[in-house]
Amino acid sequence: MLNIVLFGPPGAGKGTQSEKLIEKYKLTHLSTGDLFRKHLGEGTELGILAKKYMDQGHLVPDEVVIQMVEDKISSTPDSKGFIFDGFPRTTAQAEALDTMLQKNAMSISGMIALDVPEDILRERIKERGKTSGRADDQDDEKITTRIKVYLSETLPVAEYYEKQGKFTKIHGVGQIGEIFENISEVIDAY
Ligand code: ADP
Repeated sequence: MLNIVLFGPPGAGKGTQSEKLIEKYKLTHLSTGDLFRKHLGEGTELGILAKKYMDQGHLVPDEVVIQMVEDKISSTPDSKGFIFDGFPRTTAQAEALDTMLQKNAMSISGMIALDVPEDILRERIKERGKTSGRADDQDDEKITTRIKVYLSETLPVAEYYEKQGKFTKIHGVGQIGEIFENISEVIDAY
């Protein structure tokens, strides 16, 4: 079973690459951002709660995210494995994920981090904001907050997997297909 954490700052291309990876490896895409946006679209209590944080570029509280991920994993018992996209975003989430997977006799195969410089991230997010309708993609201040939150809260998660010998960095600028090939090579070696 393959369980991959696709990691990187906002705008790194995690969603784009996830779409291609789930097709190739027949995995389940688990994007916490997408799940929150789905809840929001459906007007659930969870969606309304998450929106308060998302619109400001802040993280949704750990316990809320962890419960949602746990529900998604247990409602997909026949999965061949998961691509975790945008999760774990804090060390507490990474620890909770390990516990969850252990309960189901699973583990993380590896983390693949997409490396993209900040100026390119900002360009990509603003470009996406023209069509995504996402409030957090359209405002410089919110983008700055998201990048700051990434550096302070999320980057330590890379170290968490590095310590376990499960970390690989991939250059995230260039042709989408080329980046995909490089990610696939890492996965094929798991
Ligand atoms: P991006 O990677 O472009 O920031 P996402 O769709 O992954 O976009 O996330 C959008 C927002 O959803 C985040 O800024 C945050 O508010 C919330 N969110 C998503 N995943 C998590 C998570 N694992 N923990 C806390 N908040 C999250």
